[in-house]
Amino acid sequence: MKTSILTIGDEILLGQILDTNSRYLARELARLGAQTIEMRSVSDAHSAIVQAIEELWVTSDLVLVTGGLGPTKDDITKQALADYFHTTLVKNEQAAVWLRKLLAAQPERLNNPYNASQVLLPAACTPLHNAKGTACGMWFEKDGKVLVSLPGVPFEMETIFAQEVLPRIKQKFTQLNVRYKMLTVYQVPESDIAQRLEKFEDTLPEGLALAYLPSPGFVRLRLTCTSATAPLREYFEKLKKELHEFSFLENESEQNEENIALRLRRAGRTIACAESCSGGNIAHLITSVAGSSAYFLGGVVAYANEVKITALGVQKEDLEKYGAVSEVVACQMAQGVRKLTGAEYAVSTTGIAGPDGGSSEKPVGTVWIGVAGPDGVHAKKYWFAHTRERNIGRASVQALVDLIALIEK
Ligand code: ATP
Repeated sequence: MKTSILTIGDEILLGQILDTNSRYLARELARLGAQTIEMRSVSDAHSAIVQAIEELWVTSDLVLVTGGLGPTKDDITKQALADYFHTTLVKNEQAAVWLRKLLAAQPERLNNPYNASQVLLPAACTPLHNAKGTACGMWFEKDGKVLVSLPGVPFEMETIFAQEVLPRIKQKFTQLNVRYKMLTVYQVPESDIAQRLEKFEDTLPEGLALAYLPSPGFVRLRLTCTSATAPLREYFEKLKKELHEFSFLENESEQNEENIALRLRRAGRTIACAESCSGGNIAHLITSVAGSSAYFLGGVVAYANEVKITALGVQKEDLEKYGAVSEVVACQMAQGVRKLTGAEYAVSTTGIAGPDGGSSEKPVGTVWIGVAGPDGVHAKKYWFAHTRERNIGRASVQALVDLIALIEK
């Protein structure tokens, strides 16, 4: 099934807002197995809207439109849709019932002609209930194809999509056959991965394709299957075998933090962190995912040596002998926070984020990452060699990957 997404609004074209609606819808469609073939943004102009719909209708089975449904004068999507489907705007009884219910506590708002106009919908559409606002969504069907119009406000759009549109799409389009599987490879340059996978890619059968999605510190690989019969699972297993010597995680979400969180939750172990050069970023990454309180006990940002000594029990003599950026100190930090919090597993970072503080022995970007668990502690040295921001980001992601590796061992 081919789909297109059309977002309407001058503010998108002026760069005043980011078009997050397209991203949300494309993700949801991909999850569903539909193929998004085009995303387009147009201004709040009648002719631009109609022209875009005309063109997308030709290439797509489903067109999703967001924006321009509000009661203000620049919101003209409804009229454009009525014209495109050769119909008129009429009072929709269902929409009127919903509006009265929504505004029951503020009946004076019903008398506002702008709000009253929200119940005028193209006669040819099925209204879609908006549990979060006054503008209904609209579902149009013609010649086996579908167009859905949704409000621009993201939380309204997402609610209608999840509650009203998704079930209808599943019912209407049964041939949803785009599937994919993803994994993330950590700390290996994209070109090295590509070299390793050269032969694998040559053997991919019709209907399977591999994509590289690089980010600082990791590359996500997406194996996409566009045919109902292509052996996705078999080739995904082959892909993992090809990469066996690299550090990678299989993904269930598109977000790196969420994938990491998923594994931590699944492992069912408690964790803590002691951070020097990452400055609290590991704790931030962990707690940015809802539900992290199930496994994250806490963290210590031990930037100064005194805090490493007093809060984490790092030995003063070892700090003097080996320096703060060392294997010994990384191990003591991880053990220290494990003891302090009572967590089963702990991770630590100590390094030189830059731009200053490097030496020929310990250049900027040098980071020791320590991991401790019930069976002991060890640390590994990394060299990220980037800007301060990227060094912190890469050290944090690597710390979580090392922690998971220890927990899952
Ligand atoms: P309303 O009923 O609030 O007027 P609407 O359907 O008319 O909703 P717009 O007027 O197009 O929607 O947009 C309302 C607001 O929603 C915008 O100011 C913007 O903040 C947000 N918005 C609109 N389109 C998008 C988009 N594509 N991505 C992210 N946010 C958007």
